Amino acid sequence: MKADINEFISKLENRTPGEKEFHQAVEEVIGSVWDFYQKNPRYQQANILERMVEPERVIMFRVPWVDDRGEVQVNRGYRVEFNSALGPYKGGLRFHASVTLSILKFLGFEQTFKNSLTTLPMGGGKGGSDFSPKGKSDGEIMRFCQSFMSELFRHIGPNTDVPAGDIGVGGREVGYLFGQYKRLKNEFTGVMTGKGLGWGGSLIRPEATGFGAVYFAQHMLHRIGKDIEGQKVAVSGFGNVAWGAITKINELGGKVVTISGPDGYIYDPEGISGEKIDYLLELRSTNNDVVEPYAAEFGAKFIPERHPWEVPVNVAIPCATENEVNLNDAKELVKNACYLLAEASNMGCMADAAEYLSKNIDYAPGKAVNAGGVAVSGLEMSQNSMRISWPREEVDARLKLIMSDIHERCVSYGKNGNKVDYIKGANIGGFVKVADAMLAQGVV
Ligand code: GLU
Repeated sequence: MKADINEFISKLENRTPGEKEFHQAVEEVIGSVWDFYQKNPRYQQANILERMVEPERVIMFRVPWVDDRGEVQVNRGYRVEFNSALGPYKGGLRFHASVTLSILKFLGFEQTFKNSLTTLPMGGGKGGSDFSPKGKSDGEIMRFCQSFMSELFRHIGPNTDVPAGDIGVGGREVGYLFGQYKRLKNEFTGVMTGKGLGWGGSLIRPEATGFGAVYFAQHMLHRIGKDIEGQKVAVSGFGNVAWGAITKINELGGKVVTISGPDGYIYDPEGISGEKIDYLLELRSTNNDVVEPYAAEFGAKFIPERHPWEVPVNVAIPCATENEVNLNDAKELVKNACYLLAEASNMGCMADAAEYLSKNIDYAPGKAVNAGGVAVSGLEMSQNSMRISWPREEVDARLKLIMSDIHERCVSYGKNGNKVDYIKGANIGGFVKVADAMLAQGVV
C-alpha cells in the first residue's frame, strides 16, 4: 500500500516539477486519507484523488503598473480555480514577494478541504501576485490593484469565483480591487469578500480568522479538561489573524506573551493587551511590518531574527505564514511543556514538525483551525445575496457554531483511543464531502 502512495506522489512530482510547497500539501493530505481511500473502491474507480490534485483551471497574467517615479513595473498575477464541486471557487488573494504558482496551488488545494469543513457551499481557489505592498505608496497600491483586477474581472463573479484577502491584501486592497471590478462589470455583488462594513462587508469578518482559531483552540482545550483562561500563549505574526487571535485570547482570560515580524519577535511577559494592541495596529498601518519599535515603547524584549517558539508557553498559535515552525521549534515547545498547538497560519508547521507535534501533544492543522475566516466570507456572501446585514451577535454565533462543528468533525474522523489525530480528522472530514460531490457530478 505504501508503494502505491509513493507511486502517486512521484507521478504528481513528474507532472508538476519544482512545486515543492504544493507537493508538501498534497503529501500531507494523501498520507492521512490513503487508507480510507483504499477502503472505498467507488472513489478509486472514479480516480477521485488524481482528479483532486489537478486544479480545474489556472489563470496566469501580466500585471503592468506605473510607480511613483513614472517607471513601468511588471508583476505576475494568478488565480488558481482548484475545485468547484461544492460551490463557486472561494479563497483569498495573496500579494507578497514570495508568491509563486507552487504556493498558490498549495493554498488552493488546502482551501478546498478547508471550505468543505466550514459546512458552507464553497469550492476552493486561491490567487495573488509576487507584488509586495510593503514600502509602496497608497497610489502605487491602488494602481497595482486596478491593473490586477483589469485582467481578473473576466474570470470571476458572484456565482463563479469570489476572491478575498490574504497576506498583503487587507481592507484597503479589497476596496481598490472591488472598485475596479464594479467599474468593469457594472454590477454591485458579493465579489469580493472582506469588503468595508458600509458597502457590503460583514461584521466580524476582519476578526474572524483569529476569533475562529481561538474558538477552535478552546474546544481542543475543553476536550482535555483545560481552558484558555490563565494560559500563557505564544502568537506569531501581527497581521489580521494575530490581531483577532490576541483580542479573543485576552477576552477569554488568556495571556499572550509574544508577537513577531520578519525582523524577529517580541517577548512581553506582562502580556500584550489594551493600548499595546492599539499601538501595534498603528505600527502595522505604516506599510512596514517590523515589530522592534514595540520593545522600546513598552519595555519588552526584542529578539532579532528568531521565531517565538523558544519561549516557555502552554499554548502556541502560529499566525504568520507557511512552514514557520520547524522540527527544532516543535521539540523546543514540547520540551518547555507546551501542550497544544493550533495552527492559524496555512500549513504553519513543516511536515516533520507537524508529525512530531501530533505524536506528542494536541496539534491541529490550519485548514481546520483557521477556517473561521473563509466561513465568515461565506456568511458575507449569504448576506450580500439576501441584501441584508446580520448584527454582530448573529455572525459571531454562526462562527462559533461552525468552529464547533469543524472540531466535532475532526474528532469523529480522527479519534484514536482517547487522543485525537486532528490532521487525519481534518483531512478525511474535508475530503469526504468533496469526493462525494465529485462522484455525484460525474467525470467533469
Ligand atoms: N485567505 C483566507 C484563508 O486562507 C480567507 C479566504 C476567504 O475569505 O475567501 O482562508
